[in-house]
Amino acid sequence: MSTNQNDLTANIVSLCKRRGIIFQNSEIYGGVQGFYDYGPIGSIMKKNWKDLWIRSNVTTRPDVVMIDGTIITHPRVWEASGHVKNFGDELVECKSCHKRFRPDLIDNAPKCPECGGEFTTPRKYNILFHTEIGVIEGEKMAAYLRGEACQTIYLDFKNVVNSCRVKIPFGIAQIGKAFRNEITPKNFLYRTREFEQWDIQYFTHPSEMDKWYEYWKQDRMDWYLKLFNKKDSLRFRAHGDDELIFYAKKAFDIEYNAPWGWAEMEGIHWRSDYDLTQHSKFSGQDLTYLDPVTHEKYLPHIVETSGGVDRSLFFLLLDAYQEEKLESGDIRTVLKINPLVSAYKVAIFPLASNKPELVSKAQDLWKTLSKKYSVDFDDSSNIGKKYRRQDEIGTPWCAVVDFQTLEDNTVSIRNRDTMIQSRIKLDEVDKWLSTQLNSIYEK
Ligand code: ATP
Repeated sequence: MSTNQNDLTANIVSLCKRRGIIFQNSEIYGGVQGFYDYGPIGSIMKKNWKDLWIRSNVTTRPDVVMIDGTIITHPRVWEASGHVKNFGDELVECKSCHKRFRPDLIDNAPKCPECGGEFTTPRKYNILFHTEIGVIEGEKMAAYLRGEACQTIYLDFKNVVNSCRVKIPFGIAQIGKAFRNEITPKNFLYRTREFEQWDIQYFTHPSEMDKWYEYWKQDRMDWYLKLFNKKDSLRFRAHGDDELIFYAKKAFDIEYNAPWGWAEMEGIHWRSDYDLTQHSKFSGQDLTYLDPVTHEKYLPHIVETSGGVDRSLFFLLLDAYQEEKLESGDIRTVLKINPLVSAYKVAIFPLASNKPELVSKAQDLWKTLSKKYSVDFDDSSNIGKKYRRQDEIGTPWCAVVDFQTLEDNTVSIRNRDTMIQSRIKLDEVDKWLSTQLNSIYEK
């Protein structure tokens, strides 16, 4: 059964709250727009999502290393990057209801979409969050929460070159928080004020920029294609000449077909030598690279891949959410999310919670598997409810210890997507699970 696209976001928000995936932050105080917390299930999902990215982009690649930079940096960083002057959105205000809008997000409508009132002329607002370093009046230094995570990579470029045996071409990757005082946070995790980004800055010789740009553009798209179910819900969008920043020869977004239309998930950016030039200028430090073989000295050019961890995870949830009509007429809600991302790989149940011999065998299985995998254990009474809960959080397999287990030491394994049950020997579940998970990664 297909879900009405307009209801899909609402269904995800409600599922996320009901099942401990994502909560509105500070909800008991009425919440603050644009801030969300990950619950017990969501925080494991998000960790898995980031681990997958790290595995594909860092630990299985000899040419990419990773850093973990701070959120607050020297304030000059944001002058050098241009954010202090130019990090902002234009806003118009309705003269009658005083609501404010970003003209581009309301398709430059001439009248207020809420009340039909006239707009003021657009004004620019800076969306960097301000803070202070130091506590003594007169000695405090104004600072910012980073508006994009990638700047710390440029700051550490020289340190990485000098401390690790990296040679151009190579990349520095990072996953970290960014903060934007967005004027119109909306669409759940799509536009928030605090979020995480996953970035790769790939440093190349200027003559190889084109080649590496094309490489990363395709590589990132292929990665998402592997993990999303609906392949035709992903596409590239080329930035038009009017959007291209002056130093970029080209720019593409990887977009997802969200319920409200095609929306950016990740940007593949041609940054040339702009960032290192700016930081050289503002810091007075030489950030050139000396090629150890040719002895050529130059400022490397950069291909950037910059995506939103939360935004892409939200798109993954939208992609995975299904409501299926069962033969009984009931509706089954199931999250057909990639098993590598789901919070639990398997959920273990004793068929009856009042049969100690079943409970203890189920506990033994949990003990063995939980050393290697994230595994849920549920000995509540109703098996139907237990399956429903696991379907809703996307657990790919449920293992049930039943009376047959006591006879032949096999368990029933139910597949989330097909609901087909098969029997596997208790002492083979570990190996079976590991084969399943490895085969998914290798696809
Ligand atoms: P947008 O046009 O949607 O504001 P952007 O072009 O400003 O995004 P970038 O600065 O390129 O975005 O940031 C890289 C990625 O970070 C985006 O592709 C997106 O996935 C994520 N991102 C940016 N802003 C937000 C936000 N406010 N909330 C959640 N994720 C965001």
